[in-house]
Amino acid sequence: MSLQIYLAGKLVPQEQAVVSVFDHGLLYGDGVFEGIRVYGGKVFLEKEHIVRLYESAHSIRLQIPITPDEMIQAVRDTVAANNIVDGYVRLVVTRGAGTLGIDPARTSNPQVIIIADTISLYPKEFYDNGLKLVTASTIRNHSGALSPRIKSLNYLNNIMAKIEGADAGTVEALMLNHKGEVAECTGDNIFIVKGGVLKTPPPDAGILEGLTRNAVMKLARDAGIEVREAPMVRHDIFIADECFLTGTAAEVIAVVSLDGRTIGSGKPGPVTAKLLDLFRQRTRA
Ligand code: PMP
Repeated sequence: MSLQIYLAGKLVPQEQAVVSVFDHGLLYGDGVFEGIRVYGGKVFLEKEHIVRLYESAHSIRLQIPITPDEMIQAVRDTVAANNIVDGYVRLVVTRGAGTLGIDPARTSNPQVIIIADTISLYPKEFYDNGLKLVTASTIRNHSGALSPRIKSLNYLNNIMAKIEGADAGTVEALMLNHKGEVAECTGDNIFIVKGGVLKTPPPDAGILEGLTRNAVMKLARDAGIEVREAPMVRHDIFIADECFLTGTAAEVIAVVSLDGRTIGSGKPGPVTAKLLDLFRQRTRA
């Protein structure tokens, strides 16, 4: 079935949704994006995603040609035009077509692209049994080079780590920062539970401040669980009672081993299960 894609201010059939080969999003990864879930026809954390998109764009000095309110409306229109009830929205803003040089001043017309589609999820057994992780040798981008807080189109850093995970037979890989501390996974944030306290690396560990991460921290606090953002190293994960990842696509998923060390009981733990349950209640309410 052909999707209706939002491109250059209007909805067009996907066959007609094409961008220039001179677009700097393609040539240089020059742009920003968001991945957003739709639950029951409603765009989840709509405002938060749009804020993060505009903040990412601001940081790379990319002027998005429409206002945040217009963007929200464009996302809603694209979801409705494709009858998406439970699905995924990919929102991309590129620097637009330019010359073959990198100079952004020689690009024109930043492109706004919105794709609303169904979503392919991790299989149920991943949630039942938990994931095994390995640590990638590729470290997360140094925040002084390209801040991981910017959700840019430049994902090579994460892709290199993802390949290392795939080589080791895992679907996710842990990434450390330049100090050797735990940062995040290639497309998910990481949490541990130790002595009933929920811990996750702070933004300045070099992470994308995941919106699922923020939502889960709030759900935990509201449920009376102590939450701490604090630097951690691999050893903290090895000796944790529980470990899990959060992300728009994965939601909340347990991690049961890291680099061959079993974490806790080797099965998804009770705090993870509770937070997944609360998250599902929150999104499926
Ligand atoms: N880290 C990275 C590198 C990601 O790409 C993502 C997915 N957007 C996340 C963390 C999780 O963020 P969110 O919960 O906003 O999807």
